[in-house]
Amino acid sequence: MRVLLVAPPGAGKGTQGALIATHFDIPHIATGDLLRDHVARNSELGRSVREHLSRGELVPDGIVLDMVRAAFIEAKADGGGYVLDGMPRNLAQARELYEIGRGLEMTANVALHLKANDEELIRRLLTRAVLQGRSDDTEPVIRRRLTLYHEVTHPIVDWYASRGILVSVDAVRPVEQVARQVLTALEAMRPLVQHVPEHARRSVDLTGLGAAFGRS
Ligand code: AMP
Repeated sequence: MRVLLVAPPGAGKGTQGALIATHFDIPHIATGDLLRDHVARNSELGRSVREHLSRGELVPDGIVLDMVRAAFIEAKADGGGYVLDGMPRNLAQARELYEIGRGLEMTANVALHLKANDEELIRRLLTRAVLQGRSDDTEPVIRRRLTLYHEVTHPIVDWYASRGILVSVDAVRPVEQVARQVLTALEAMRPLVQHVPEHARRSVDLTGLGAAFGRS
């Protein structure tokens, strides 16, 4: 299973990404975590991106693409599955990622879109700020990250819909309800992704099915 997560900050991509990775026994490649690790280790790369992260700006495409290419090569040796969290963040990254995937015969089977409104996202991120103290979880930086998401990241959702690999889920629910729906959808798609070519598939919008998965 090869999954991309497309979601605004605070929608739960880290949590859902980890659950998907455990469920399918595939690596969880989280670009934000990889970048924060470089910053924490004060590596040369970390020093070059520290400011971008603390201001909530995107780091240059080339840096993340190189990181993800290296992670894909490792994932290929490990069976070829992955859940990629935090990438692509714009259309240029989406196109480049597709080329990397094609070169390695590892293009994504599913683009999982976690949908949530800004009010809920700000509330969650401010709660996370108290718990984790991330430098980019202050209100002005959160607003900047949400603006960037709406302006440059969200448009890629349509691109994945047109490629027939989009699955949209309502993420404004308790984490275990979202997880149950996500894993059920991915399990249902498992035989499909192996046998039905991308061009013959249709996107799936599960955002109206919250009630069936526990929304009161
Ligand atoms: P995240 O943990 O996914 O919220 O990412 C935290 C920060 O890392 C973002 O606000 C960006 O500064 C940077 N970042 C993560 N992934 C990317 C990416 N694919 N392209 C550019 N910047 C990224």
